[in-house]
Amino acid sequence: MYRAFLIKYGEIAIKGKNRHLFEDALVRQIRYALNPLEGKFEVIKQQGRIFVEAKNEDFDYEETVAALQTVFGIVGICPAVLVEDQGFDQLAEDIIHYLDETYADKHMTFKVEARRARKNYPKTSPEINMDLGERILNAFPDMSVDVHHPDVTLYVEIREQINFYSEIIPGPGGMPVGTNGRAMLLLSGGIDSPVAGYMIAKRGVAIDATYFHAPPYTSERAKQKVVDLARIISKYTGPIRLHIVNFTDCQLNIYEKCPHEELTIIMRRYMMEIAEHFANENGDLGLITGESIGQVASQTMHSLMATNEVCNLPVYRPLIGFDKQEIITVSEKIGAYETSILPFEDCCTIFVAKHPVTKPRLQNIHNSEKKLVGNMEELVKTAIETTEVILVEPEE
Ligand code: ATP
Ligand code: MG
Repeated sequence: MYRAFLIKYGEIAIKGKNRHLFEDALVRQIRYALNPLEGKFEVIKQQGRIFVEAKNEDFDYEETVAALQTVFGIVGICPAVLVEDQGFDQLAEDIIHYLDETYADKHMTFKVEARRARKNYPKTSPEINMDLGERILNAFPDMSVDVHHPDVTLYVEIREQINFYSEIIPGPGGMPVGTNGRAMLLLSGGIDSPVAGYMIAKRGVAIDATYFHAPPYTSERAKQKVVDLARIISKYTGPIRLHIVNFTDCQLNIYEKCPHEELTIIMRRYMMEIAEHFANENGDLGLITGESIGQVASQTMHSLMATNEVCNLPVYRPLIGFDKQEIITVSEKIGAYETSILPFEDCCTIFVAKHPVTKPRLQNIHNSEKKLVGNMEELVKTAIETTEVILVEPEE
């Protein structure tokens, strides 16, 4: 019965003359989200409304709604019926048929909320409300009208075509990806960084990613896990250019020459530097990490300050005030959790010290890093030159 979805978008409607850019990005992201699906769809923008219309009868309703729920900028998804204007009698008949199919139990209150956007329609909005209400009451004696707190509100919009709907399924909110520049996500195989990428993308930011691995200390499967995570979040963020950096020689060099309790901090600083190199190459306007204050030794205020020192781009840490459980809740919601908890080794845990510093002093870190002068520049250069870049997109 429903072949169409009316898309409601909130925040972007207030953007004045940028409105068109936002709507175009939204349409593009909707097409991207629907692309892997079996069914064929048309996405239509008309008079401040976006409609998704299924082109074949047998499209999968649940799957379509789930795909639309990955599109940032969508506030509500309304399964709607779109009909040509064939006179009021026909409209009333269609609506009665719709209510009959949609609500098995007719013991409910309702109201009709009509909007006449096409002014040459022979009835005014209040007249449509009244007259449709009457036809519905006649057809279903168990129903009654309640204009203040109805169980069901039936929306009827009179445009070139007419659409009606009575259900609004929540969308993810936020803003369409592509309306707010791009940023470089430091993506590990953990729980936090995919969530961090998701949250920044939700504000309209397109995402690139960098992953550091340390073969043969980390396995091919650990790398595959990160590719899989990138693929999961690419459902929401759009295609991700994933940079896979071989960090082994850099790490071994740090391991050999620096105090072990400072390893993680110094490694992080080099990671940030290399990620920033690729960020600049891609025109990214910031770095993103999954850090949250105090979660581990390398995320105390002192450690974050030490890591931050080497960055010139702003570093966005959307999880900064989140507890682990709050992060897990989002991770589960976006479908990343099961993959994130797969037990593969991470390059940082392999070289981790028993007692890492929790309050690194910048002066000490600088002194330790002096011991790396001479060959570290060359190792970083090689790591950059040998980086593998793959374009990650959702699976068909
Ligand atoms: P996550 O769950 O995201 O791995 P975590 O709790 O394990 O986070 P850390 O390992 O301290 O925390 O990492 C902090 C942040 O540093 C990560 O969220 C990520 O942004 C970045 N990071 C850590 N390891 C890597 C890596 N191997 N490749 C890319 N980024 C990394
Ligand atoms: Mg980690």
